[in-house]
Amino acid sequence: MRLSDHLAIPHLSTGEMLRQTCADTPLGRLVASYINNGRLAPDFLVVPIITKRLAEPDCHGGCLFDGFPRTVNQASLLDEYLADLDARLDVVLNLQVDSDQLRLRLLKRAEVEGRVDDTDETIQARLEVFRSQTAPVLDYYQRQGIVRGIDGMRSPDDVFTDILTCLGS
Ligand code: AMP
Repeated sequence: MRLSDHLAIPHLSTGEMLRQTCADTPLGRLVASYINNGRLAPDFLVVPIITKRLAEPDCHGGCLFDGFPRTVNQASLLDEYLADLDARLDVVLNLQVDSDQLRLRLLKRAEVEGRVDDTDETIQARLEVFRSQTAPVLDYYQRQGIVRGIDGMRSPDDVFTDILTCLGS
């Protein structure tokens, strides 16, 4: 991933980690049922996956979370976990893109990557989940003063430059 490569830190995508568990097992089928319907996997599945990954040595110098935390409960569990390690989040990047543009980008991604959750119906469900369950995470981090807004409507190069400026990197 471009940003984690530039920063030379691991990229931790919970979506990617969950997709890797979608083998033909009871747990895999359970995870797939959440992803394929655009619903959030339950915290008892997501949190152990990410904390196990965070304990690996390559994360000790920092990491880039992608798609995590997605609920206020996940954010507060992450804060507790990091506090035990005497660590904390430095910054939360809020990439702002309007929903019509998001829909177009995800439908395009469906053509390129073939992700089963990039259908029109699932995109609508995921946007609704974002509004109801993930947007409050921004308020949670606003109170900590670490949210930085990025205009995600611009080109990938411009967005990348804005993020680096914002991070001072
Ligand atoms: P993503 O690859 O980040 O777009 O995530 C794809 C799907 O994986 C989401 O729509 C959820 O079903 C699931 N997922 C990813 N991250 C989380 C998370 N932090 N909490 C719950 N479910 C998640």
